[in-house]
Amino acid sequence: MSFNICVLASGSKGNAALISTDKTKILLDAGISCRSIEQKLKSVGHRAQELDAVLITHCHWDHISGIKTLVKKYDLNVYTYYQNYGRLVSILGSGKNIIELDGNDFFIKEITVSPFELMHDIHCFGYSFYSRGKKITVMTDVGKITDYVRSRAKDSNILMIESNHDVQKLMSNRKYPQNLKDRIISDQGHLSNDLCADALTQLITEEGRQVVLAHLSQENNTPELAYTITANALKNRGIEAGKDIKLCVASQHKVSEILSVV
Ligand SMILES: [Zn+2]
Ligand SMILES: [Zn+2]
Repeated sequence: MSFNICVLASGSKGNAALISTDKTKILLDAGISCRSIEQKLKSVGHRAQELDAVLITHCHWDHISGIKTLVKKYDLNVYTYYQNYGRLVSILGSGKNIIELDGNDFFIKEITVSPFELMHDIHCFGYSFYSRGKKITVMTDVGKITDYVRSRAKDSNILMIESNHDVQKLMSNRKYPQNLKDRIISDQGHLSNDLCADALTQLITEEGRQVVLAHLSQENNTPELAYTITANALKNRGIEAGKDIKLCVASQHKVSEILSVV
């Protein structure tokens, strides 16, 4: 039996990922249209009807834009932190499908979900998913990796982590006002390629051999840049990307390959 993650979309224009075992299918975030979710799931052999639940990291639009149609069409339960309840009720029109989380671990069928708070400019949560002793962790929209977050993410078999921007590219971007730049690079903003690479040098262990770089800014980053900065940082620690670990970059438009732990 395998335990998988497939990134349907990742980036500032919309996010969604499927965490699955043979019997359990969880959609993490619904920040693309319901139709896109349906099509992307189909492209990897799944159907939206099979989803057991939707889990929300936070209520920025790039993580919830498709939620209303999806939840209504398939009558899905939405798991989210209690701080997001009011916002989600206003989007969904009622609280009947919302299950509020209090920070404790919980189960969705055979997957155990362990939430932990991230530093972002609204309440935002990373999640570790456990099945049969294996661990998949997802943490995006995080300005700073604290010791607490590091402790929660360690020993993940698969780790999806934000590698949002290149600081130089962001700072020289004339389309972005200074206050937006300040917000992005702050501890409550998004993780730069350098901070992501630094975190990974401490998080890669014998068990954690698959990494997905995620939530790349289309304006202020490139997949090549994100990959190279992390690969170089790991190389300095004697870890070779592509050989010692699998290092992938999630795309805004293309569905990722399915990463599995058995
Ligand atoms: Zn986001
Ligand atoms: Zn956000």
